[in-house]
Amino acid sequence: MTTYVWSIDDPGLGGSDQAESMRRTSRFFDSRGLRATWFAVPKPGGKPLTDDWKRALCEARDAGHDVQLHGLTHADCFEFGPPAWPATAISPELLTTFESRREELMARYTVENLRARIEEGQELFERELGVHPTVFRAPCNSISKAMFEALRQTGILYHSVAYISGTGYDHLPHRRSAALTPAWTEAIPHHPFRWYSGIVEAPMLNEYTWRGASAREPEFLALARADVERIARESPIAVILMHTHGIADNEAYAFRLIDAVAAQVQQQGGTFATLGELAESGALTRAATVDGPDTLTV
Ligand SMILES: [Zn+2]
Repeated sequence: MTTYVWSIDDPGLGGSDQAESMRRTSRFFDSRGLRATWFAVPKPGGKPLTDDWKRALCEARDAGHDVQLHGLTHADCFEFGPPAWPATAISPELLTTFESRREELMARYTVENLRARIEEGQELFERELGVHPTVFRAPCNSISKAMFEALRQTGILYHSVAYISGTGYDHLPHRRSAALTPAWTEAIPHHPFRWYSGIVEAPMLNEYTWRGASAREPEFLALARADVERIARESPIAVILMHTHGIADNEAYAFRLIDAVAAQVQQQGGTFATLGELAESGALTRAATVDGPDTLTV
């Protein structure tokens, strides 16, 4: 039986409207008896979290949601490593931007630098939210070997950023895909695995709520159901990625997607949990039965 995780990125980024959007989504999950893992940015754009965001995150925490670390500032897409697929498929210009700043950016990826960033995030979370993070997600799925070693040294032993499928971005205008054909990478295991520095990676299944997805709602709901059905045969744990404010553009659609996935999971006899719970219970560690591939060059 597979346990599914709702993971939602980027709380902390954006203004009061966005914090209010997070509140509505949290309450929607509450109304369904579900809880999410919110990957929040502790020092968005280099500035302190606003009171609005602190309140929204503390409310979610108090309602039983999971709040985990999503970088430190998320000021650009290269905070913890060079650009990687599928961020490069979503925004091809990341590659040219990285090349034009290569020397400056590569200097970031030392264990010492990245450890200092993670530690600052941990301190901010503990001081401002009373949260002790146990799982990390690098912004824009940009990662490096130094990041994994820095995580190990700070005691954060779980990470979730590798994509199993990027089909959820095939609708973007520059991709010009006629159909959302389910395609899963074979480059990584489809279940949690032990990666660099012994960190357990919980790969993400796919995303169905990127901006523009709602215009192709029937196809996206079918894609989500097909992914959710298949992963149950391949992994005891499945992490679904969402953006519900800022990047997503249709909250009502996102809520219908949540209902459709929840109905599919229920039909399969699956359950939901947060990543924090699965880390604490040892379920993530137990699921990581194989080592990940040595794919990172940096
Ligand atoms: Zn992000």
